[in-house]
Parts: sequence; structure tokens; C-alpha cells
Amino acid sequence: MIVVMQHQASKQSVDNVLDRLSKAGFQLHISEGVSRTVIGVIGENTKERLAGMAVEAMPGVEKVVPILHPFKLAGRDLKPEQSRIQVGDLVIGGKEIHVMAGPCAVENEEQLLSVAHGVKKAGATILRGGAYKPRTSPYSFQGLEEEGLKLLAKARRETGLKIVTEVTGVEFVSIVTEYADILQVGARNMQNFQLLKAVGKTNKPVLLKRGACATFEEWILAAEYIMAEGNFNVIFCERGIRTFENYTRNTLDISSVPVLKHLTHLPVIVDPSHGTGKWHLVTPMALAAVAAGADGLMVEVHPAPSEALSDGPQSLTLDNFLSLMEQVRAVAHAVNRQLEKQ
Ligand code: PEP
Ligand code: MN
Repeated sequence: MIVVMQHQASKQSVDNVLDRLSKAGFQLHISEGVSRTVIGVIGENTKERLAGMAVEAMPGVEKVVPILHPFKLAGRDLKPEQSRIQVGDLVIGGKEIHVMAGPCAVENEEQLLSVAHGVKKAGATILRGGAYKPRTSPYSFQGLEEEGLKLLAKARRETGLKIVTEVTGVEFVSIVTEYADILQVGARNMQNFQLLKAVGKTNKPVLLKRGACATFEEWILAAEYIMAEGNFNVIFCERGIRTFENYTRNTLDISSVPVLKHLTHLPVIVDPSHGTGKWHLVTPMALAAVAAGADGLMVEVHPAPSEALSDGPQSLTLDNFLSLMEQVRAVAHAVNRQLEKQ
């Protein structure tokens, strides 16, 4: 249920309602919008109990209404305004579009630092790179693990870029949290509910990739798992879904941008690298994503894609990444967004 406070409700009346509801044992989520405060009330038999307590008659309360969607915290019922997620001094979900770029996997210092400096120069604000890699085959390169996290931290010190890196299991949450600015939950783990709960207990923003076969409802409910633990800083990342088509690695569902913007208040970014699997499709799909309203992009870049230990065929060279950024800048401008702070 949600308790919608009146437009001019005083702080005292909001506090009185919060006090009464928390004493009654409900879980509360407060959303302070520009025009009014909305209180999400989660618990058992909320409808009957709130009616019994006559909450609607309390001073400052406008109405008490049910949340119609299965996603209580991510939905726009609770929070009509778009969420802005703070990553250090960056804001994701505002006017600026943020590009997260870097190699699929951290391979060695030279590879990572050369990409980091290159993507920074081209206008990226966040460095991506896997230290723990969820590979389809157990015989493929599995990542440098903590050594990879240390290299990411070094790249951050040298460039000022923020770091996003994947956490592949509950047992790695604490170590990845020590190094990363954003925790990535990969497509294969989108419904690993224990992992979702564990990242929900941290204070780091979470980039939640779409499972290859996930519906929108399943994906939003995965975000709900993170939020129900108290971490509201969730960013969706569309990375393609599995369809009958096998020319591309996945089918990139650009419609997820407006769909998620309609259903939720959380930012949405798009990964055209995993979404297509082919480097020459990455720039056109990145442009389509920005035109559709994406709040950012995740792009794989490698100094020598043909020698990459993972995902070479979908990785851009630094020159191609520079060209992508120039084109993204123009499309961003056309849809009243921007790449850099002004
Ligand atoms: C990745 O970003 O490196 C990755 C493994 O992506 P996904 O989880 O989307 O397959
Ligand atoms: Mn990859």
C-alpha cells in the first residue's frame, strides 16, 4: 500500500504517520518528491490493517491506495520521478549520458591501462572490466580475480574513471565491494536471489543486467530483491535476449528502454557489445539506444581485439570507440541529452 501525503503536509504530520506505521511493525520506504511525500508500506495484510488504524484520517494524509504492480519499490506508483543515482561525483539518470567502456576481461596491466587512458580521452566516465569472469566453458580464461581488481583500482587512480566490475557469487561480494564503484550482476546471475540480496545489503550502486531469457517482470522483480534489502541504487542494463535469430549473439531489445522508463523510476543503460556480438553492429545500436532514451552505454573496447582473451569479436578498437563517441555525442544532443557536464 502507499500513503500519499497532502501537497502542503507539514514535516510534523509526515513524521507522525511514519512513527505510527513503524511502531505497528510495517516496513516503510519514503519517497520525497518535489511536490509531495509518498510512503510505501510493506507488510502482511497492509490494506486491512491500515484501514483499521484509520491512517487515512490522520492529519496531512491525502489518500491510502494499493500498489497495483507486483514491483512495489521499483515502480512509479511509489516514486513518480526518475531516480538519479550518485556514483561519487557522477549522476546516472540525469541529463548526462554516461559511457562505461573497457575490456571484457582485465588481462594485464598494460592492456587495462592503455584502454583506460584511451576511453577516458574519448569521453567515457566509467571503466568496465571483468576480474571474475562467468565463462560458458570452464576451460576458458576465468579472470585475474583479486589481481584484476587491484589493476582496476590502479587504473582509477591514474585516470579518475569510476570502476564497474562483475560480482559472480555471494562469496565475492565483500572483496568486489572494496574495489568497485558499481557492482555488476551479470545476465547469468539475474535470478541468483541470494546474490541479489547480498548486493542489496551493500551501499554500492548495482548494475543489473537482463537475463538472456528474462521477461520485463522477472527483471524488475530481480531489482526489487535488491531494493527490498534497502539498496535503492539499481541501474538496469539491457544486453540482449535469446531469440531464434543466431546471426547476432543476442537480440538487443531496444524497446526495454522506454518500457522500463514507463514502469519504473530507475535508470536504464544499454550494452550493444553483448547485445550483438559483432563489433561493426555496436555503434549503430549504441546510437539507437541513446535515441530511445538510454541513460548510458556499456561498451567493450580492447587495444587488439583479435588477441583478446574474451569477446574479441564484439570489442571495438580505441579508434572505433572514438568514432562511436563522436556519433553518440551528436545523437545525445538531438534528444536533449549530453555526454559531458556543462
Ligand atoms: C560482461 O559484461 O562482461 C558480461 C559477462 O555480460 P553479460 O552478463 O551481459 O553476459
Ligand atoms: Mn564480455
